[in-house]
Amino acid sequence: MTKIAIIGLGLIGGSLGIDLCAKGLEVVGVSRNPETCRRAREHKAVTQASVELDILTDVDIVFICTPLGAISLTCQKLIPYLQPHTVVTDVGSVKTPIVRECSELWTNFIGGHPMAGTAEQGIEAAQKGLFVNAPYVLTPIASTPPEITEKLSGIVQLLDSKLYFSSPENHDQAVAWISHLPVMISASLIQACMSETETDILNLAQQLASSGFRDTSRVGGGNPELGVMMACYNQEALARSLLAYRESLDTIIETINRQDWQALNQIFETTQVTRNFFC
Ligand code: NAP
Repeated sequence: MTKIAIIGLGLIGGSLGIDLCAKGLEVVGVSRNPETCRRAREHKAVTQASVELDILTDVDIVFICTPLGAISLTCQKLIPYLQPHTVVTDVGSVKTPIVRECSELWTNFIGGHPMAGTAEQGIEAAQKGLFVNAPYVLTPIASTPPEITEKLSGIVQLLDSKLYFSSPENHDQAVAWISHLPVMISASLIQACMSETETDILNLAQQLASSGFRDTSRVGGGNPELGVMMACYNQEALARSLLAYRESLDTIIETINRQDWQALNQIFETTQVTRNFFC
């Protein structure tokens, strides 16, 4: 039977553990905190947990589920404990720098990104079925042994996720468009509204804000650390998307300034149709 290890028993690591344990797999977990190990066992997110990496000696697949900034270092630290056949993967939401660094460290490394989550963090936020019907992108590169892609695909299928394959670079540009750019736009929307200098108008706007504003501002009002991580790790792709967005905004501003309502209507007619291609 395939033996799994999860490093970082937070929202994503804990949720993966719950579903893989429920499928009858043996899952060992590593946390830096003994209390997290205890809670992970209680949540049935692991069959065993430890603060020591020597628990990894006979595992087949390791999922690194730490924050982006700790993935490569974690990969480096766990290598002395692995068998040559062990597959290492990560769940980070940016792939290019992580895949580059970890593939150099371990031949049997393949990047992954389960595209599901909540605004919560830590083992208490872990939940059953988080990845069901959600996309799970694997990012093999030319040097990735095909058999490890196949092995990990089998595990992703156990989660009932929708499996996709992409290069790390295409993944990062795609998530820049649909995940990282919306966070930046949403944050700048809130920032722009707060620039209103007339206190009465600002107060009134805050009282009148309803579902439309709630929807468009939600991702800009989230965890600041995650927003900074997206920009820091996916800088190039995000900058490209932001520039394209600024051009779109400029076009809309110019169209309104020209009072070209027909052209503006054409823009909205197009976006009314093309939005359906995304959701
Ligand atoms: P999380 O709930 O904060 O869990 C991360 C876990 O990593 C923590 O529980 C912590 O466990 C451990 N950790 C924290 N800092 C560490 C460090 N410096 N070194 C080693 N371990 C450390 O975060 P998460 O939302 O699960 O995110 C984990 C990964 O999933 C990230 O790479 C993120 O990009 C990716 N991801 C997140 C989402 C999302 O919506 N949240 C979606 C898809 C992918 P201990 O303190 O117990 O060691």
